[in-house]
Order: sequence, then structure tokens, then C-alpha cells
Amino acid sequence: MPVVSLTKVATSPSAATAAGNFTIRVPCFYGKRLVSNRVSFGNLRRRSCISHCVRSELQSSRVLGSVIDSSLDNSVENGHLPKGDSWAVHKFGGTCVGNSERIKDVADVVVKDDSERKLVVVSAMAKVTDMMYDLIHRAQSRDDSYLSALEAVLEKHRATALDLLDGDELASFLARLHDDINNLKAMLRAIYIAGHATESFSDFVVGHGELWSAQMLAAVVRKRGLDCTWMDARDVLVVSPTSSNQVDPDFVESEKRLEKWFTQNSSKIIIATGFIASTPQNIPTTLKRDGSDFSAAIMGALFRSHQLTIWTDVDGVYSADPRKVSEAVILQTLSYQEAWEMSYFGANVLHPRTIIPVMKYDIPIVIRNIFNLSAPGTMICRQSEDEDGYKLDAPVKGFATIDNLALVNVEGTGMAGVPGTASAIFSAVKEVGANVIMISQASSEHSVCFAVPEKEVKAVSEALNSRFREALAGGRLSQIEIIPNCSILAAVGQKMASTPGVSATFFNALAKANINIRAIAQGCSEFNITVVIKREDCIRALRAVHSRFYLSRTMLAVGIIGPGLIGGTLLDQIRDQAAVLKEEFKIDLRVIGITGSSKMLMSESGIDLSRWRELMKEEGEPANMEKFTQYVKGNHFIPNSVMVDCTADADIASCYYNWLLRGIHVVTPNKKANSGPLDQYLKIRDLQRKSYAHYFYEATVGAGLPIISTLRGLLETGDKILRIEGIFSGTLSYLFNNFVGTRSFSEVVAEAKQAGFTEPDPRDDLSGTDVARKVTILARESGLKLDLDGLPVQNLVPKPLQACASAEEFMEKLPQFDEELSKQRQEAEAAGEVLRYVGVVDALGKKGTVELKRYKKDHPFAQLSGADNIIAFTTTRYYEQPLIVRGPGAGAQVTAGGIFSDILRLAFYLGAPS
Ligand code: ADP
Ligand code: ASP
Ligand code: MG
Repeated sequence: MPVVSLTKVATSPSAATAAGNFTIRVPCFYGKRLVSNRVSFGNLRRRSCISHCVRSELQSSRVLGSVIDSSLDNSVENGHLPKGDSWAVHKFGGTCVGNSERIKDVADVVVKDDSERKLVVVSAMAKVTDMMYDLIHRAQSRDDSYLSALEAVLEKHRATALDLLDGDELASFLARLHDDINNLKAMLRAIYIAGHATESFSDFVVGHGELWSAQMLAAVVRKRGLDCTWMDARDVLVVSPTSSNQVDPDFVESEKRLEKWFTQNSSKIIIATGFIASTPQNIPTTLKRDGSDFSAAIMGALFRSHQLTIWTDVDGVYSADPRKVSEAVILQTLSYQEAWEMSYFGANVLHPRTIIPVMKYDIPIVIRNIFNLSAPGTMICRQSEDEDGYKLDAPVKGFATIDNLALVNVEGTGMAGVPGTASAIFSAVKEVGANVIMISQASSEHSVCFAVPEKEVKAVSEALNSRFREALAGGRLSQIEIIPNCSILAAVGQKMASTPGVSATFFNALAKANINIRAIAQGCSEFNITVVIKREDCIRALRAVHSRFYLSRTMLAVGIIGPGLIGGTLLDQIRDQAAVLKEEFKIDLRVIGITGSSKMLMSESGIDLSRWRELMKEEGEPANMEKFTQYVKGNHFIPNSVMVDCTADADIASCYYNWLLRGIHVVTPNKKANSGPLDQYLKIRDLQRKSYAHYFYEATVGAGLPIISTLRGLLETGDKILRIEGIFSGTLSYLFNNFVGTRSFSEVVAEAKQAGFTEPDPRDDLSGTDVARKVTILARESGLKLDLDGLPVQNLVPKPLQACASAEEFMEKLPQFDEELSKQRQEAEAAGEVLRYVGVVDALGKKGTVELKRYKKDHPFAQLSGADNIIAFTTTRYYEQPLIVRGPGAGAQVTAGGIFSDILRLAFYLGAPS
């Protein structure tokens, strides 16, 4: 046991708060100044932890000449510690020992493990380490609330102990706890006075959480009648600090100390503190945040245990952080390298340094859930493709992200071919102690870029600017650019090395989610591909790549504009089909916004489509298109967003360009954009080709009939369009299909209006504008640069009635003009023909028309019934016999169906399985 003689350094006893306290002068850093402070300490125990700390301060300032370190002598008796398979090492994280009930559960697990010997590493109770760091923070900010915060720490442990223990065990724990708290009070008082805590003071303070949890757990196991000792890992684990603010274990020294410790505590169940250790000079230190996993791995290696089980609050290692990707799946096995890469890149289920110590002895790590004992967990062990019986399942095992990074880009033509530039850059970075997380250098050597934690980037930038002042002034370096607010996304998998196309799929998924990549790195081992992206894109990116590789669900955030007849029918169709899409097609459509012209409704988790009408009325807020767009796009969780414009509004159509520019996909039956001003249409199409944003508008012509897609298919496969001719208006189709026998035209119009087949004012149909828009759309789709204005349209509304004030007046006067059309019909009939109102795209003549034409009675257009549309494509391939598409081309159900199938087409483009 280390014993510290303080006689020569301690000054006279002070007027300290508690009897037996004393005061010494210890040197502390105050800002950058070394000052001397009076520090009061409570009663030193037989083996006081403070002794480590005091000694640290004194030794480091070279004022101590008389501290006697008797902790280590060379008389270690070897051979007492039985190493090897008889040992099982378990580690329980903070949540596992979060309260008294959980500590009992942990004790159950320990007791039930039938290994011959057990070493259990335990973290502090959940949140306690944060509370301890907070104490230091308060004290050094000279905020005396550290006292009440310390009281809370005491109370938490006192209450837990009261729940768990009784008799002597309780009394001795509480005595120790109160003692520790008193010592901490003195220590924090010193920090408060100095306004500063040295690293060893901090490490000493924060490690108490583990001291208490380990003692309580050991006592609970003893209560079950088993022989169990607790271990203060500072007596055993020796680690040396490194320049990169980490610590390296000294295995040789730790092994010696362990042997010695074991000779005095040879128990078959040992509960050891995680997180804390000593320096070679016996100064208390820690393995840094989340370091208990690392402690356990070192213990596993020291004991050569047969397994290391890390107990936590999730079922194992997931393919992505389950808090960010709800579809993440548990990985049954991981190789050591894969686990290391996952943890290095931010999967905090495992501390990255856990792997190396156990890997050396081939000790498997199993990650298990204390709250779900039936889950087998994830096994991390040695794996290779060649090993018999082992099959590496997926090329990409998992994804992880690191936030709060900045990218540093050092650029300049003077770097090419100049040896030592990279080393100069990174030595400047090292001098400020920054941690470089990834590096990427263009092969032209014109730029080196690397990612560092955001909080370190200022120092890095200053160091580089100072190191390269001359090169910058001389123009050899053009800039040292800092790009803040970045995140890293890494794909990890051992099999990536031997599987072509993994990066292509990875980048493709990112491109489809419209995520810009700022830097890329892929190591030679190819165990990971790393990209740097904007922080705000991080979760979307993670979900996009995850769903691509795991074929979980293609998620699409949907914003519906115009919940009228068509929009409303669409919402109902989505409601009815959502479950099937999710289960069978792996498509997760989430309508996260609905906006009408006056009200809008939004919900990030998806609007309840069984009640959207009521919700809209009850919870709708005033409509605001900018806010709506921001909402649909601004959600950071669903990788892709689509706006579905179900209006006939030109203003809404004018938003498409900006939506596409922002990476929002657009689906619409609204004809206004594609038949509107030519320059705007061309701008949209140009953007569409250049970007990964999709624009689908099948329902603009023929509702749900496959007209645009048929035309596209013909063009894309190299066919040449000669002519498109068709009956594009359901209303006009109905009117002329029924304008037979002795019936007058006005009579048929009145009947159609009555049946709801016309617009409220039938002149909107009869004017031919709607057909003209469709012809314009098809003409443009075929490559003609036509404008609606230049298209000759035969208006069926008699001239004198075009100015009628109301639909009623129009209907009333229409019979007066029946004669003209009756005459035309009779003439046609006499020639064995019928009248049909058609739109024509004449691709050869580069023109379009909308007119009333006559067709032979055996022509397909003459055979039509009801309100069907019919479209004939005459092409070089379909020359003798045109390709005909026929069917109902109007009505809410079929139009909504057409829009819906565009939304699904989009999902397939985005990676849903077909
Ligand atoms: P403990 O206190 O037990 O050490 P941690 O909080 O350090 O627990 O680690 C467990 C947490 O890690 C989980 O609750 C989970 O939210 C998070 N996590 C992040 N990435 C992953 C991943 N890929 N697989 C599993 N858990 C992950
Ligand atoms: N208790 C320490 C921390 O919270 C170590 C650990 O739990 O791994 O950082
Ligand atoms: Mg942890």
C-alpha cells in the first residue's frame, strides 16, 4: 500500500472545518501562473486517495522531496494469479448500475455466470461522472453551488446504499462515502480558491463514481453469500499519459501490481472500478470519458479471460446508432477491425480502445443488454474471409457518424512535389494537440484537407497560418480554409475490400438524397469509407445510406399542396396503401405536411391520415408556403422530400424550380409549369437533368394513363416521334361520343354538366385551352419548343357566348347555336365519319393544333365510349399501326392514382426494391 509521509511538507495544522483536518501549501496553476494555495484536507484515511493527488501536485512542482512511495517493491510473488480460461470478465455500463434495482439485476447476472472466476468492471452510476465533472466546473468557476451539487451526489449514493445494504456492510459503506465526500469537499474548496483544477485533481475527483458503485455492487454480491472483493483499479492499472490526451496502459507494470494485489485479495469474484487508474508515479488518473470499456479490455488481457462481456442498454452493436436510425439492425458478429472502425467513427456502444488489448489474446467480446437477457448480443472476434465455416455476410456492416467537426483545407500550387509539406502541416497541428480524425489529399498534391474537432480548429488555423506565413505571402500556398459545421459519416465492413461497387452504391445513395460530399477518405485496408458532409445533412445521410445497404425502408417525406378533390383522394389512397407499401415494398411514405390556400397542417412523425380532414380543421395553422417548404425540406431525419402539387395554380407551379434546386423532388398533375412560359419550362428541365432532384408529372396528361411514360420510353429507346394525336379531354370525349342521332349539342352539354362531367362553367372545357396545354406538354416532351400562345385552338364556345357573364346564361343561350355543329355532324355522317375534338402534335411539321376533326367510323377514335381518352403515337417503329393508349383520362380516383404511382416511381428511383 502506498503511504505518504507528509510531515516535511505539511505546514502547521490550520483552523480547518473538521477536527483532525490540516492544511498544506500546494502549488497550483492559476491561468498560466504557478501559485501556491492553502489547501485543507479532511482526515486522511489509512490509505487515502488524496495522498495520490497531493503527491501529484507536489511532485509535479518539484517541491516534494520526502514523499515515500512504498506502493511498489520488487518482491512480487509470481504465480498466485491463475490466469486464463477460468476467468470471465464482465463490464457493466452506467445505465446498468443506474439505480438500486439495476444493481441487483447486475448482481444476479454476476451470480448466475457459472465461470470459475469472475472479474467485473463497473462504471459509475448513470450520470454520476457528469455530476462529478460538473462539481469541478462549478468550483473552478468560483460558484459555491458546488457544495449543494456535492450534497446531491452524496444523497444519490446514500439512498442507493440504503436500498441495497444493511448491517455492517451498510455502515462501512456509508462511513467510507461520508469520508470521501468530506475529502472531496476539501479538494473542491481548494479548486474553488485556486479557480483552477489541475488534471490530476480533476481525475481524482471524477473517479469517485466508480469507487462507490464498485463497493456497493461487491457488497450486494456478498449479501448473496458469495465471496467477493472489490478492487480499486488505481492499485493495479498503470497507464502513461500520451501527448494526444490519451493514456497508454503499461501492461508489464500492471501485471506485476495485479499479481501483488491478488496475493492479498485472492477472491473468485472481483468487482473492479472502471475508468480509473494510476500513472507510473502513482498519481490517480482516468482512461478518459467512457473509458470503462477500455478498463475492462485491459483486465481481460491481464487475466487472459475466456471472454469479455460488455453489458449495456442496447441489444448489441447496431448497424447504425439506434437513436438516429430506427430501422438499424443488430449485428450478430463483427470482426475486431470492424468493431474498432465502428467505435472510432462514433458508435459509442464501445470505446475504440477496447479492441486492441483483447485482440492480442483472441479474447472475444460480447455486447449484451442488461435489460433484455434473451437477446444473444453481438460477438466481436477474429474473423477473416478465408476461415472455414465463417461467412462474412454483408459488405457493409454498419455506419457511424462523428459530429462537431471542422474541415481544414490547405491549398496551393507550391505544395506539389515539395517533400515535407504534409509533415509540416501535421507537425503544426500536433503542436497544438489537435486530434486529426481523417485526412484526404488530392493526388495532384494541390491540397491537403483534414478534419479536426470543431473546438480545436481555431488553434489549428492559427498554428498553420503562423507556420506557413511565408508560403502564404509568397503565393506558394493560396489559402488555409476552414469549413466549420461538418460531420463525418463512415461506412464500415471488412468485406468492402473484396466487393466492387460498394463505394458506388454508397455515393449514389448520398447523391439521391441530395447530400453534398466535401471530402472523402478510404484507407488501404478498405475497412471503411469516410465522407465529410454538412452537419445538418448528417442524419439524413446516415438514413439514406443505411436504408440503401440494409434495404430497410426508403423513407419519403411528403408535402401535399391542395387537399381538394384530387389531393384529398390521393391522401385517402396513401392512407389505405401505406401499410402494404411499408411491409411489401419497403417504402415508408410519411405525409408530414398538407397545405391548402388558407390552412396548413404539419407533423414530423407523419400526419394521421385517417383523420387528416378533422386535424386540418382543428389544428391547422395559417398557410404559408415558405414555412411549409422549409418544414418539408428542413426535417433532418427523412433523407428525401417530395412536394406533391395537386392544385391547378400557376403560382405554385412557379415554385418548382426552387424546390428542385433545394433538392426537393416534385410530383404533380398541375399542367401550369409544363405548359407555361417556355423559358421557365426549359430551365426546370435543364435543372432536372443536372441534379438528382426528380420531377414527375404523368398525371398532367390523361390522368393515370401511361402517356408521358410511354412517350419517354419511345424516345429513350431511340424511336422517333412523327405524330401524336388524341382525344385528351374526358369531357369533350363524352360530348362527342354522345352527340349522335337526333340529339343537339347543347342537350348533350346540359346532360354532361348535370352528371358532373364538365367544369362548373362548361366553357372551360369547350374553349380547348385544357387540351392545348396537354398538347403543349406532349410537344415539349417530344422535343418541340412550342408555346401555348402560338398554338391554334378551335374554340367550341360560339363567339357571341364567349363574353357571357355566367355559366347559366351561357347554358341558356347555347341552344341558339346548335345548328352549326349539327350541320357538321350530318355532313360527317353522310361521309361515314364522326366528329372528334382532338389535339395533335405534328413532330415533323414542328407544330401543334387543337381542333374538331372527322374520322372514319372504323378509326379507333370513332370507337370510343364514355369519357375515355385515346392517344395514338405514330413513330418510325409504330408507323403502319400507331401505338394506342386508351382509357379513362379524368376523374379524381384515376388522377390521384396517377399521382400516387409517380410518388412510388420516385421511391423506386431512390432505391426502394422493385
Ligand atoms: P454504457 O454506459 O453502457 O457504456 P454507452 O452510452 O456508452 O453505454 O453506449 C451505449 C449506447 O451507444 C446505446 O445506448 C446507443 O444509444 C449508443 N450507440 C451508438 N451507436 C451505436 C451502435 N452502432 N450500436 C449500438 N449502440 C449504439
Ligand atoms: N464513468 C465514466 C464516464 O462516464 C466511464 C464509463 O462509464 O465508461 O465517462
Ligand atoms: Mg460506454
